[in-house]
Amino acid sequence: MSILNTGVRHVRNVQRYVIGAGSMKTLPQILQQRRSLGGGVVIFFVDQYFRETKDLARLLDIRDTDMLLFVASDAEPTTEYIDSLAEKIRRTLTTLPTAIVGMGGGCAMDVAKAASNLLTNGGRAQDYQGWDLVILPGVYKIAIPTLSGTGAEATRTCVMTNLNNGLKLGMNSDHTVFDQIVMDPELTATVPRDQYFYTGMDAYIHCIEALAGSYRNAIGDAQSRSTIALCREVFLSDDMMLLENREKLMVASYLGGCAIATSYVGLVHPLSAGLSVVLGLHHCIANCIVMRAMERFYPDAYREFWIMVERQRVEIPEGLCRNLTDAQYAALYNASTVHQKPLTNALGEDYLRVLTPERVTELYRMM
Ligand code: ZN
Repeated sequence: MSILNTGVRHVRNVQRYVIGAGSMKTLPQILQQRRSLGGGVVIFFVDQYFRETKDLARLLDIRDTDMLLFVASDAEPTTEYIDSLAEKIRRTLTTLPTAIVGMGGGCAMDVAKAASNLLTNGGRAQDYQGWDLVILPGVYKIAIPTLSGTGAEATRTCVMTNLNNGLKLGMNSDHTVFDQIVMDPELTATVPRDQYFYTGMDAYIHCIEALAGSYRNAIGDAQSRSTIALCREVFLSDDMMLLENREKLMVASYLGGCAIATSYVGLVHPLSAGLSVVLGLHHCIANCIVMRAMERFYPDAYREFWIMVERQRVEIPEGLCRNLTDAQYAALYNASTVHQKPLTNALGEDYLRVLTPERVTELYRMM
């Protein structure tokens, strides 16, 4: 069997969604339906960015008996972190919560997914790193994305790093898919412009990689094409942050997440992972930096990407990998070429003949 077989044949999507400015007003009603089923406690995982937000309790309809936990977004979640959150919940509650809400960017949403699975299945987060290891459905979970692009609101995985063995692998499972998402573009109005661009570009890059790959899925392809078309409308317009553009980018993020759940990324993501592991760069900005070296591999997307950068007047860091040590280049080579599936998708099974250590170093020097 090809290593590119995802094993995903019967695709599960998010069960319900609501989209549009003001959608947050429907949250109390959604939660009330869950509370009326009994138990009643809701757990909120909220990006720490909102810690100082006035009226947060009212916006989310948080009750006295609920739990509100702020999630760090400056580093991707570790399995230990997930375990500690689950432990805290188990110590505090005598019964399972009736719902879990994840509000924020990719990290907050991924933490909500992982905690939901862990609370019903027991054990530790690392027990479920891999494919289809989650047996029982998780606690009912709702995503409220406040950044658009990663597609975490749509995918069947959650990024987690196990610091004991260095394994960065999520809980790939149908049970990881959210039950409900609330997409309100008013929530992305205050995102800094650069961050909005970097994160939004994650959706564009996922889809140009998927469409250029050898492992394809007919519906995934259609979702990828729609995602790219929406990103063009947003990033080639005069102001990417108009309300209508923020709504389009929410749709692009969602569809891009659906697309990537049935396909693979290509060369950008493995090289980007190298930058994250070796230099500690965030996923989305690292992708944009990698685009500096992608002219040979994705010529059309390369041209279009740089037109978008110029149109929106954002800064993409340059020269970060020009003068590294031999040991750092070796580490970058290892941390990027370890991603066998996307690289096979992009370059074929002999990808290491293309990506020699010299070639990979040359690519990083271009960034
Ligand atoms: Zn990505």
